[in-house]
Amino acid sequence: MSHVLIIGNGIAGVTAARHIRKLSDDDITIISGETEYFYSRPALMYIYMGHMTFDHTKPHEDWFWEKNRIARLRDYVTRVDTESKKVELLSGIVMPYDVLIIASGSASNKFGWPGQDLRGVQGLYSMQDLELMEQNTQDVEHAVIVGGGLIGIEVAEMLDSRSIPVSFLVREKEYWDNVLPAEEAAMVSRHVREHGVDLRLQTELKEILPDANGRVRAVRSNQDEEIACQFVALTAGVHPNIDFLRSSAVDCNRGVLVNDYLETNVADVYAIGDCAEIIVPDPEKRNRIEQLWYTGKMHGEVVAHTICGTRSKYERGILFNSAKFFDIEYHTYGLVNFNTPGEKNLYWEHPDGKRSIRIVYNDKAVIGFNTMGIRYRHSTCERWLREERPIDYVLAHLDQANFDPEFYELCEPAVLNLFEQQNPGITIAKRKGRGILSSIFA
Ligand SMILES: Cc1cc2nc3c(=O)[nH]c(=O)nc-3n(C[C@H](O)[C@H](O)[C@H](O)COP(=O)(O)OP(=O)(O)OC[C@H]3O[C@@H](n4cnc5c(N)ncnc54)[C@H](O)[C@@H]3O)c2cc1C
Repeated sequence: MSHVLIIGNGIAGVTAARHIRKLSDDDITIISGETEYFYSRPALMYIYMGHMTFDHTKPHEDWFWEKNRIARLRDYVTRVDTESKKVELLSGIVMPYDVLIIASGSASNKFGWPGQDLRGVQGLYSMQDLELMEQNTQDVEHAVIVGGGLIGIEVAEMLDSRSIPVSFLVREKEYWDNVLPAEEAAMVSRHVREHGVDLRLQTELKEILPDANGRVRAVRSNQDEEIACQFVALTAGVHPNIDFLRSSAVDCNRGVLVNDYLETNVADVYAIGDCAEIIVPDPEKRNRIEQLWYTGKMHGEVVAHTICGTRSKYERGILFNSAKFFDIEYHTYGLVNFNTPGEKNLYWEHPDGKRSIRIVYNDKAVIGFNTMGIRYRHSTCERWLREERPIDYVLAHLDQANFDPEFYELCEPAVLNLFEQQNPGITIAKRKGRGILSSIFA
């Protein structure tokens, strides 16, 4: 029986622990400095907005850990010594391990902006950040968010829930247009503004200015505008949280370097979740850092199998993601905005400007879906992508992908009509009983 030590009680570390317990009788210890119990990080915003308490965000009951013999320790790992197979903790404890899993997650980016450490300036990643945000946003008249992405827009919604006016500095031409295609990015920009946010595109932070007490009083942008504010959220991305490993023998680059089996260069040491940087042998391509909930979960399960005797390769499979931009849900499956050779895009937008469906395809098959304001079934889209279904098949069956057709207006007939208009001479064999609503959107 070995002692498996896991650094980090996020989705990656906890999933590894759960699966190791299923597969073995090993001793398991999870060390984490942030919280006593595992919680859902994506739900942080709902605690601030009063929709949930911390207890609601815990995926497991408190008895779960003892019952499954997963020991928890609230402490910080300050040093890892792979020679002696021990970790040192902030409390002074030195703990031995047989197998080490590094699952230490991410930390918010700070790019050396003047004033970035002033009071009232912070990122949003941890429970401590949330508590600080609670204090920092008391009696605030104006807030500034720096960096458009998924966390930035959540902070905007959080502040909106407390009626705190926001200026939002985003470097890109449209919101998150490094990920979203132009039309969807423009839709999000419009929607953010409709919520009363002062969205300033193509604008970067230059410096954060202090008041006489060392608290933020304003920011200055690269357009040389000064925006008065008492709170600044720095949401320009995250990076692997691995500073405590820098003196160790574990190879690190931006993250902890691992192969497809999530193994580091040191025997019996693995890295999973946000902190892992998966080496891509092709020199033309960048190594992969996957900062998503579901990939962390997959890493945890894969590494558990390897540790328990079945060496398993991590294969991410078909990409997917979902998020919410204020009231607009976003779902993506497969390859969208990757500009693959020969790809075509069928993009349909509802006249209300808040819903859209994009199907990316080539001569052979459909390769991606993006929906805004409309929920498509993950399993259906994934199956079509895996089976490499051609565009005419997907269009003929598109209503099967709709997640909740009984509650919402059906948009699929309009998508079909658009395709036929754009491709004269091609008629999609519509499934029986369809097309009733097509005239509404045609
Ligand atoms: C506000 C917010 C919203 C998000 N929303 C989504 C979403 O909607 N969908 C999605 O897919 N992803 C979302 N993410 C990203 C997702 O939460 C992360 O990808 C995921 O939580 C990473 O899991 P992890 O287990 O790798 O690390 P983490 O969840 O970061 O857990 C790592 C833990 O290790 C601890 N730790 C680090 N170093 C040490 C040390 N030296 N000693 C002890 N403990 C240590 C940390 O404190 C932390 O508790 C969101 C992230 C944030 C911040």
